Amino acid sequence: VERRVEHRHLRPDLPQVAVFDTAFHTTMPEAAARYAIDVETADAHRIRRYGFHGTSHAYVSRKTAELLGKTPEEVNVIVLHLGNGASASAVAGGRCVETSMGLTPLEGLVMGTRSGDIDPAVTFHLKRVAGMSADEIDVLLNKRSGLVGLCGDNDMRVIRRRIDEGDERAALAFDIYIHRLKKYIGAYTAVLGRVDAVAFTAGVGENAAPVREAAIAGLEELGMAVDASLNSVRSPQPRLISPEYARVAVAVVPTDEELEIAEQTFALVSRGDADSPVHSDN
Ligand code: AMP
Repeated sequence: VERRVEHRHLRPDLPQVAVFDTAFHTTMPEAAARYAIDVETADAHRIRRYGFHGTSHAYVSRKTAELLGKTPEEVNVIVLHLGNGASASAVAGGRCVETSMGLTPLEGLVMGTRSGDIDPAVTFHLKRVAGMSADEIDVLLNKRSGLVGLCGDNDMRVIRRRIDEGDERAALAFDIYIHRLKKYIGAYTAVLGRVDAVAFTAGVGENAAPVREAAIAGLEELGMAVDASLNSVRSPQPRLISPEYARVAVAVVPTDEELEIAEQTFALVSRGDADSPVHSDN
């Protein structure tokens, strides 16, 4: 959170607050935030993993602790923010220790129109062999990839309908999406060591029961399971969808980035030190 002072002369009494979508991820250890490339080059151009959807990961990880009747400090949570853009985060005791987006929102999960993780050499290959420009490759990976690139649709409702009608391309797109998600759940389980909860949020995470069911299927050895009848409930409330015996709570926790921004703003403004630029680490 940073208070900006430009244009202050227009409304000298009005505090201006900017809430950065990357702020929640600044607690990531260097081992998670630094890419394994030449250090001087990386530092000269500020190339590192920043992460995005931070306001959502902050809000949802806190709400998940609340749902479990615990404080954020007491729990380790994997948050899966699955909207048109999608990212995962590992939150240990209220602090983000890993997230799937990087320098830009392109890294990580399969998204509506973004590829997520890809061998960076694919880009050299597209330039050298397909003759594509950097801008064309940028558009390909950000706008014509992910679910839309795989099957022509990026709306999970439409994809599920097509699968029900026997559409194989839609089924493969869904499988690729789930495969990537499962890899991240496994990886973040290893990063955290102990997981208390997995929280699904955003448009797909809150609404698409088949995505939640498929992402958790087969993870019993990790202590994770989904109860079919709880999973089929539609509700705007935070709720558990795991059976009682499961070691890890699986939850649906609707995100509210606007509320999180408002609360962070209120907390900063009500501290009353409105006269000087302030930077807090969220
Ligand atoms: P967001 O970016 O969080 O607004 O999420 C938008 C995405 O959520 C859409 O592209 C859909 O894929 C997905 N979505 C929204 N509503 C539903 C629903 N009822 N069932 C399945 N997916 C949904």
